Amino acid sequence: MTAPTTSLDPTAPHPAIASIPTGLLIDGQWREAVGGRVFDVENPATGDVLAAVADASPADGDAALAAAVGAQTSWARTAPRHRSEILRRAYDLVMDRQQLLAEVMTLEMGKPLAEAMGEVAYAAEFLRWFSEEAVRVSGDHTTTGDGANRIIVTREPVGPCVLITPWNFPLAMGTRKIAPAVAAGCTMVLKPAPQTPLSSLALAAILQESGLPAGVLNVVNTTDASTVVERWMTSGTARKVSFTGSTGVGKILLRQAAETVMRSSMELGGNAPFVVCADADLDTAVDGAMAAKMRNMGEACTAANRMYVHRDLAAAFSDRLAARMAALTVGNGLDDDTEVGPLIDSAARAKVQRLVDDALARGATALTGGRLPDGPGYFYPPTVLADVAAESELMTTEVFGPVAPVIPFDDEDEVIDRANDTDWGLVGYLFTQDVDRAFDLSERLDVGMVGVNTGVVSNPAAPFGGVKQSGLGREGGRVGIDEFLEYKYLAVPRRRGR
Ligand code: NAP
Repeated sequence: MTAPTTSLDPTAPHPAIASIPTGLLIDGQWREAVGGRVFDVENPATGDVLAAVADASPADGDAALAAAVGAQTSWARTAPRHRSEILRRAYDLVMDRQQLLAEVMTLEMGKPLAEAMGEVAYAAEFLRWFSEEAVRVSGDHTTTGDGANRIIVTREPVGPCVLITPWNFPLAMGTRKIAPAVAAGCTMVLKPAPQTPLSSLALAAILQESGLPAGVLNVVNTTDASTVVERWMTSGTARKVSFTGSTGVGKILLRQAAETVMRSSMELGGNAPFVVCADADLDTAVDGAMAAKMRNMGEACTAANRMYVHRDLAAAFSDRLAARMAALTVGNGLDDDTEVGPLIDSAARAKVQRLVDDALARGATALTGGRLPDGPGYFYPPTVLADVAAESELMTTEVFGPVAPVIPFDDEDEVIDRANDTDWGLVGYLFTQDVDRAFDLSERLDVGMVGVNTGVVSNPAAPFGGVKQSGLGREGGRVGIDEFLEYKYLAVPRRRGR
């Protein structure tokens, strides 16, 4: 069948949605789910239904994995340059359609259009980066210590991959996995988050148009993730899982991966400390705080979750941050002046309110925000909390919303201990004008990434990932493709006596 798409009815919510496939992509065909089951995708700014997409059953999931397994051998044998050019064409098409993809993303996820435009460009850059890496995979050639054997090391694709993505960066979390998998010669099944499947479906259609053969990328939207994915994980035919999402779900997948000893990459939650030293430049620190806190309405694993500010600067920092936060325009992401969109759903908003109420009950003061607005949509006001008690749940839980708790500190050793006193270790931020202090404290932060005098660390050219319960492995950068490659070593004896 042809790609099922949403209705072209002129009363449809937005024309951008009408061009997006709504089926399952299995073995190069757009299909309905078994039994014709669908689920609704909602606009979090209005509560309107945007589209009904196919809702895969476990049988659909099995068919998708079978397609990936069937395509693996021939895909692995394709020339790296061929794979590279498919990714490069996809990069060009994504950028040609940046506006449309951004509108789809804003509609299904809520972020302001300007941020969605930025995410489309960021997502596209993974396609271009890995189109360049596809032709740069190298091995090694040496000899054993006694000179008797040649050691030839080659790299091979790991095999069919299970890719699972969250809703907060619906396009970039997909390309950060798909692009290196394609470059390495792996086939894959992708399960996007049910809140935001349309961005992944649009991307899959672009990759098809770019020449990706049938079966290499299969996309399975489902409201039954636990069953569909567990069958993939225990199939014995999928060889790798790459997951971005919460630490709790990551642990479930790691337990399942243990059954068949699957290679595992995990990009999990964070609880990022944001440390402003006494010698920091205040303007730079406040700019950094706005970027590290407000990107994606705070719904980012990299979001600054705890702002530790030296007592000499804490009041001035809090006041300036509160003024900047209070001045932000909250609204529908498609409106021109919107700077902060809605949260993803009512459960997400209720969690943010619960954490804020807990901090207030323990003595914090809201310098701005802190109260639920009336009206439709899952909006939450930008909020700055001063004097947050250490035992507040906000200190130990990823808030995933536009809430900045500010905590004064007196001593560097004390702040490093507090910053590291968490099970997570994705990213930390550090503001100081002293080079020695910047290196010393960066080295002492127990995290995978540090922003030094900046609130933004994500970049396709950099290795993204965390330590402790923030995950395993890295995405992007020179090492991003390694997650999808295995080493193979050939022992070749040298002829004796020559
Ligand atoms: P989530 O609840 O863990 O969901 C992530 C994905 O996993 C969704 O597609 C979800 O589908 C699926 N899933 C849930 N339970 C599953 C199961 N038992 N088996 C297989 N798949 C399952 O996380 P989220 O709320 O969407 O995303 C927010 C989290 O992602 C935050 O913790 C954030 O820090 C983290 N994150 C990390 C990074 C990073 O790079 N480190 C980047 C972005 C986000 P269903 O919703 O259908 O269950």
